[in-house]
Amino acid sequence: MSRTVPMDDVTVVGAGPAGSLAALVLARRGLRVRLVDRARFPRPKLCGDTLNPGALASLSAHLDLESLRAQGVPLAGMRLSGPGGVSVVGRYPAGVAGLAVPRYLLDAWLLDEARLAGVTVEEGVVVRGPAIGSGTVHGVRIATGAGEREHRSRIVLGCDGRASALARACGLAATPASPRRWAFGAYVHDVHGVDPAFGEMHVRAGSYLGIAPAAGGLANVCLVLPRLRAANAVARPWDAIRDAVGADALLRDRFVDVRLASRPVVLGPVAVDVSRAGVPGMLLAGDASGFVDPMTGDGLRLAIDGAQLAAAVALEVLDGRLAAAAAPAALAAARQRAFAAKWRFNRSLRALVDAPSLVRAATWAARAWPGAFQAMVRYAGDARTAA
Ligand SMILES: Cc1cc2nc3c(=O)[nH]c(=O)nc-3n(C[C@H](O)[C@H](O)[C@H](O)COP(=O)(O)OP(=O)(O)OC[C@H]3O[C@@H](n4cnc5c(N)ncnc54)[C@H](O)[C@@H]3O)c2cc1C
Repeated sequence: MSRTVPMDDVTVVGAGPAGSLAALVLARRGLRVRLVDRARFPRPKLCGDTLNPGALASLSAHLDLESLRAQGVPLAGMRLSGPGGVSVVGRYPAGVAGLAVPRYLLDAWLLDEARLAGVTVEEGVVVRGPAIGSGTVHGVRIATGAGEREHRSRIVLGCDGRASALARACGLAATPASPRRWAFGAYVHDVHGVDPAFGEMHVRAGSYLGIAPAAGGLANVCLVLPRLRAANAVARPWDAIRDAVGADALLRDRFVDVRLASRPVVLGPVAVDVSRAGVPGMLLAGDASGFVDPMTGDGLRLAIDGAQLAAAVALEVLDGRLAAAAAPAALAAARQRAFAAKWRFNRSLRALVDAPSLVRAATWAARAWPGAFQAMVRYAGDARTAA
């Protein structure tokens, strides 16, 4: 008598926003979905913590957001500043808002919603890489105390973030030579002048610093530095933040009384290039499918929408409407259609930060045409999608 190998329809690796949402969507379609993550939730995650209006709109297509909104702070827009003291406020259109919510809360909430949708969740499970046979991924290799075990499924979704073990094992991901930036972040008390209705982005030549309000008067501070400036700072992330604000005429006074509320963290290099959207039997979503720069604050929107696209393509494969071998190209085409304009916009902003002369020109332009920056904040925030 042959022994039946237990098998899921889908294994989703990584229970960040991309993985939890993809798993939820697929489980609601009646599929057997297993979602595994090496962490135990709630877990910390270095992020600016702002869900832009487009991300909220995408989530609300699947979920009632009331209990999530209760844990965060609504955002009416973003305040931008450049060198030389220029500062502009960009408001989202009437009736459109973002949400600042700590990632340990957002991700745990979304994971609970996935569980409620019928997803089997396993925490504390480290995936070493894909299980491959005859050129097709047929599961994942999971670390055990004694070595590895294989878990089989009809399709695998790699949602395991920037350092994706799945994408790297298949030769799909690499750290680009440029840009090479490091991110430093912490929750802090007593940043003066934080308006709880606005996120903040302070762009300087080669670097930028974001501030997001958090409940209880806390603020999330994230600093992104280029390689040369980050090199000496990775071992002392809090000093890196203090040095940056201390040297900044616009920010210095706001940080004189600041006190740490969490352990400061650092990660980098931030950018990861990904050459394809997957391989036969495996599709990528979220940061695992490529990550450039958090300056525009739309990583979560791209992760959430990318997860839906990956789930839709996975469904086609599982329903027999699309060959597994054709799925990565189908997902890449769908991503291109959905994100190409936004990717171009993000690339332009990244180029701007890299060039001091462009930062100065943009600062000048912000003074002359604040309306253009209003439009930029709305576009970066995917406010049109939300409206
Ligand atoms: C400094 C910084 C600030 C940012 N600020 C913002 C912002 O304000 N707004 C915004 O929209 N975006 C922001 N982003 C981008 C945003 O954080 C990401 O786009 C988002 O987290 C992507 O979600 P994800 O689900 O793809 O990956 P993640 O959230 O990284 O989740 C991946 C999951 O995979 C798990 N995992 C990884 N490897 C394995 C493994 N081998 N086995 C099992 N599990 C594994 C991890 O534990 C993790 O839970 C920021 C990013 C950075 C770096």
